[in-house]
Amino acid sequence: PSITRGVTVEIPKVYWDDIGGLHNLKKKLKQSVEWPLKHSEAFEKLGVSPIRGILLHGPPGCSKTTLAKAAAHAAQASFFSLSGAELFSMYVGEGEALLRNTFHRARLVAPSIIFFDEADVIAAKRGTSSSGSSTVGERLLSTLLTEMDGLEEAKGILVLAATNRPHAIDNALMRPGRFDLVLYVPPPDLEARYEILCVHTRGMNIDNDVDLKKLAQETERFTGAELEGLCREAGIVALREDITATVIHNRHFQTVRNSLNPALTSQEID
Ligand code: ATP
Repeated sequence: PSITRGVTVEIPKVYWDDIGGLHNLKKKLKQSVEWPLKHSEAFEKLGVSPIRGILLHGPPGCSKTTLAKAAAHAAQASFFSLSGAELFSMYVGEGEALLRNTFHRARLVAPSIIFFDEADVIAAKRGTSSSGSSTVGERLLSTLLTEMDGLEEAKGILVLAATNRPHAIDNALMRPGRFDLVLYVPPPDLEARYEILCVHTRGMNIDNDVDLKKLAQETERFTGAELEGLCREAGIVALREDITATVIHNRHFQTVRNSLNPALTSQEID
């Protein structure tokens, strides 16, 4: 029964518009994910081999997972999600079996996207682990390499991997035909923070006194995840003040803003 543990399959209901900022990155993903998955015959006719893997890297909470899901939705692709850490922690042989099984199922229901979170945990440079557990990582990595090489014949399958530590990824995965495209997902700048705040207040009843442009200025070094949390918390503060409240005011946002310190260091932003 454990063979399907940790795997979820669905076409995610996430849209490009749910992601604030990152306009060029979204455009790039549209071209590299949507087109090959939706129009694989066109690529075949031209004799162009589509990209098989994309590595997304950048600080946590800045929408790597959300981008992968939006890409899957746009391409109407089944979304298989695997966590490097979870694979790593499985019993001997179980992680490899889950990997092989996931690629197998992805082929059956193509177009598919296989998303690897915390990819560096299983794709770490060989021979760098200090413990005896390195063999676990090596077996997982070699299974992943075999499966990715097998995608040559498979149509409509794309592997998206996410990591906060791109330098830890084994070079073997960076060869052509594996992760052909490496994209940096940066923390949000001023404009992106404004757009993220707009996205996450879209369904909220906020008063005219809430100035999201100003709030974007006041949230330097906040990640997308933190901005999302700030909006949700502001609603909770309003309810805590008055359980019959129907509108969220600027003071509620300010209360939350003043209680938070951004997790990102300025180093991660440069
Ligand atoms: P991790 O490395 O921790 O897995 P991640 O980069 O994959 O993080 P996500 O899981 O995609 O980040 O984002 C976390 C949450 O933050 C999501 O719920 C998402 O809605 C929100 N978020 C992050 N960035 C943005 C953005 N640019 N626009 C809108 N929401 C965002």
